[in-house]
Amino acid sequence: MKRPKILIIYTGGTIGMIKNENGVLLPFSLDNLLNDIPLLKMFPADIHSVGLDNLIDSSDADIGFWLLLNNIIADNYDIFDGFVILHGSDTMAYTASALSFLLENLSKPVILTGSQLPIGLLRTDGRENIIASIELACMQKNGKPLIQEVCLYFEDHLYRGNRTNKYSAENFDAFISPNYPLLANVGTEIKVFEENFLLSNNDLFVSHKNLCNEVAIIKLFPGIQSKTIKSITEISGLKGIVLETYGSGNAPTNNDIINCFKEAIAKGIIILNVTQCTVGKVQQGKYETSTKLREIGIVSGGDMTTEAALTKLMFLLGKNYTREECIKILTTPLRGEMSY
Ligand code: ASP
Repeated sequence: MKRPKILIIYTGGTIGMIKNENGVLLPFSLDNLLNDIPLLKMFPADIHSVGLDNLIDSSDADIGFWLLLNNIIADNYDIFDGFVILHGSDTMAYTASALSFLLENLSKPVILTGSQLPIGLLRTDGRENIIASIELACMQKNGKPLIQEVCLYFEDHLYRGNRTNKYSAENFDAFISPNYPLLANVGTEIKVFEENFLLSNNDLFVSHKNLCNEVAIIKLFPGIQSKTIKSITEISGLKGIVLETYGSGNAPTNNDIINCFKEAIAKGIIILNVTQCTVGKVQQGKYETSTKLREIGIVSGGDMTTEAALTKLMFLLGKNYTREECIKILTTPLRGEMSY
């Protein structure tokens, strides 16, 4: 079996942070981080690493940051067998989702991981997370990488990246994949669930270069006023909205509110409906309170997470698709981000 070549990309996040003189956590250097894991040198793999010039807390992630990561992977795609991205957990599910759309026809793993406690602390969860992620990235079958998609690894679990959501600010087990099963479970043994993997189509790898951030998220709440919605739908240049609705895709039937959405759609804005519930999917037309949404042209996001819905919208709006093409792709699984 060929000795795998793995590239670790360090972006910042708690995993590599140390406290400054005021006790505030800030990202520190990659060397510092890797020195804390001497075991890495014993891995049966060629491990290389690169740190971003500008290390960030992942709260500072933006489309420029995603495109930079995308380019690093694309530039090194032919050289390495797998990629492990060390990333802050706060927006890791967004980055994993964005990369899943930008990197098309992957035949190698891209695994995002991080930690809730810095690597320098005795009780850190970072060491196990990095080691298991590298081990997963090294797995092969018939001489090829076993995992061929963008994943997120945290506390024993490998998830499809664009199905995840950070649900805990405290637990080591900080992520969930509410609508899609695990890709692997790491205990005394690594159990991979190949039946849940994205099927590679053997087409040529493509790294897409555009994302559009003329988008917004509107989360409904009882008592929301049409003027609040209007203040968003009237933003100049806005192209897309992720609408977080109730239950199976329901919204107030109040005419003023419906008219705001109607006017936005008439201006060409795409509105994508996802549920505020953690588990389950949007079914426009199940209740009267969602029938109107369908009638005026709001698009159902099925069981996509907000993270996947937003980044899919950014990805599609960054292309020269017509409205119809965008809607068709939004309602069809592109990278396993939604169920049929
Ligand atoms: N604020 C940190 C970040 O997302 C939290 C973490 O890494 O877990 O960068």
